[in-house]
Amino acid sequence: MIFASTKNPRLRIDFSRGVFQGLAPDGGLYHPVETPDLSRLFKSLSPRTDFTDLASQVTAELLKDEITSHQAGEICGRAFTFAPRLVYLPPDPEAPENSGPAILELYHGPSCAFKDFGACFLASCMEEFLGTEKREAVILTATSGDTGSAVAQAFHHKKNIEVVILYPSGRVSPLQEKQLTTLGGNIRALEVQGSFDDCQAMVKAAFVDPVLIKRLTLSSANSINIGRLIPQAFYYLWAWIKTEQKELRFCVPSGNFGNLTAGVLAWTWGMGVSGFLAATNRNNVVPEYLNTGQYRPRPSLQTCSNAMDVGSPSNFDRLLAIFKGDWKKMREVMSGAEVNDENTLKTIAQVYREKAYLMDPHTAVGYHAGMGFRKKHPAAEPLVILSTAHPGKFAEVIEKAVNQSPPLPAALSALADKPKQAVLIDSNFQSLKDFLLKNY
Ligand SMILES: *Cc1c(COP(=O)(O)O)cnc(C)c1O
Repeated sequence: MIFASTKNPRLRIDFSRGVFQGLAPDGGLYHPVETPDLSRLFKSLSPRTDFTDLASQVTAELLKDEITSHQAGEICGRAFTFAPRLVYLPPDPEAPENSGPAILELYHGPSCAFKDFGACFLASCMEEFLGTEKREAVILTATSGDTGSAVAQAFHHKKNIEVVILYPSGRVSPLQEKQLTTLGGNIRALEVQGSFDDCQAMVKAAFVDPVLIKRLTLSSANSINIGRLIPQAFYYLWAWIKTEQKELRFCVPSGNFGNLTAGVLAWTWGMGVSGFLAATNRNNVVPEYLNTGQYRPRPSLQTCSNAMDVGSPSNFDRLLAIFKGDWKKMREVMSGAEVNDENTLKTIAQVYREKAYLMDPHTAVGYHAGMGFRKKHPAAEPLVILSTAHPGKFAEVIEKAVNQSPPLPAALSALADKPKQAVLIDSNFQSLKDFLLKNY
C-alpha cells in the first residue's frame, strides 16, 4: 500500500516506513494513493467472523506487498485482545416506524476509548517491523491528558520500543495521570512544569535536534499516523458484515475526523453505505462546509465533549483527497450536524431514563444528531451510532446530566492503588534532551 502526502502527490512512502515517519516531511498527511477493491474478500466473510480474524484478513490484503498473511495475523492477534460490540436500543416511542439505533461500542480496549484500535494496531505494527529489521525506536509524545493514555497502554511491553510521554504538571485529571504514570516498564512519564504547548514545543524540538536524531530512532504515535488511521476502518466493516445489511448509515461523533475518514476509506474499498453523518459539538467547521461549501477553520471552543474540541481538523485534507476536492461528491455520501452542550446533556439523561442506557458525552452528540436525521429521513435499516468512550471516563459530565456517578470501568478503577512514577522536569528543551541522552 503506497501513501502520498496530502500536500504533494509525488512525495510517496510505503506503509512500513510511513508508520515510523508519522507526518510527511512537507507537513502533509500521508494518504493512500490507490483505492483497492476488497469486495471479493468482503463476500467471503460471514456475520460470525470475529473481529480479529476480519482485521487480519483485511490487513493481509491491504499490505500484501509488504507483509505475509502470517505476519498480518500476528500483528492483529497481538493488537486486538478486545473487540467492538453492537448494542441495539429499542425504537423511540414517538417514531415507532423507525427501528431503534444500533450503538457500536468502541470502548472495550485498555484505555476505554476508540483510540485504542488505532494505537494498539500501530504499536503492534511497529513491534513487528522493528523485530524484522532488528532495530529499536523511541516514541516521543506530548499529551494534554486523554490521547496519551491510549498510546501508553498500547505500547506497554512492546519489544524494541521505549516510550516517553510528556504531560503538563497539574493540568491533567487525576485519572488521566494514573493512566500515564502507573504502567512502568518501557513507558516513562515526564511531568513537565509548564503547559501542554510547552510539552509539544519540546517534542517538536527533539525531532529536529541533530544530536538526538543521530543517536536515536525517534518516532511519534500521534493520531494522524497512517498506522492509526487504517485499523479504524475495521470496525465499520465488522459492523456492516455482522448486521448483514446491504447498506448502513453511520453516525460518527467527530473532532479531528480521523474516525470518520477511516469509515469513508472502508466505503471506497467496497463497504455498503447509504451515508455518513458527521456529528460535531459547537466546533462545527465540517458540518458548515457540507452545508455551505465554505471551509472556515477557526480556534476551538470548549464544550462538554472535549475530545472533539477541534477547530481545524487535520483529517479534512484527507477527506478532500478522497473526494478530489469536490464538495458535491462529498455531500452525496456525507452530511453534518452540530449539537450543543444543552442537548448533549439532555440526550444522556433521556436515553438513560427511557432506555436504561448510559452513554458518554461524545456518544451523546452522535446520538442526538442521528435521531434528528432519522426524524427527517425515516428508514427501516438500523442507524449505527459509533460510541467512542466509556461513560465512566467523563464522570463530571455524567453527574451533571443524570445526578449520579457512572461506574468506572474495571480497567481504570484498578489504577487507583498503583503508585505514580513520573520524572519531574522543567519546560526547557535541554532538560528533555539530557533525559533522553542519559536514558537511551
Ligand atoms: C478522539 C475522540 C473523538 C474524536 O475522534 P476524531 O477521530 O478526532 O474525529 C471522539 N470521542 C472521543 C471519546 C475521543 O477520544
